[in-house]
Amino acid sequence: MKNSELSRKIAIGRIGRLAKLAEDRTLEGDTASRRLAKRYVDLARRISQHYKVSIPKELKQRVCRNCGNFLVPGVNCTVRLVSSRGYAAYVCECGEERHIFYKKAH
Ligand SMILES: [Zn+2]
Repeated sequence: MKNSELSRKIAIGRIGRLAKLAEDRTLEGDTASRRLAKRYVDLARRISQHYKVSIPKELKQRVCRNCGNFLVPGVNCTVRLVSSRGYAAYVCECGEERHIFYKKAH
């Protein structure tokens, strides 16, 4: 069986591990490491497509939709809180903004 429960579980584990690696590489900061971080993000995406598992929300929110950076505050993105709207704006170094809501919209 190709798409068994087990292989999907392993796939999710791999995605989590790739995300951690992407974060570590991003923290290292040099160009080669950052390129690797993007590659890990790309691999995680491919695994999720291949095994038809979704990338956990917390991880998905941390990937830039424009350039594929794994967002690490203080390294490649800045975080601004917009308390009136209840979200944190993660601004990637490429200029792309992600809004992560911490308050339920009413
Ligand atoms: Zn970006």
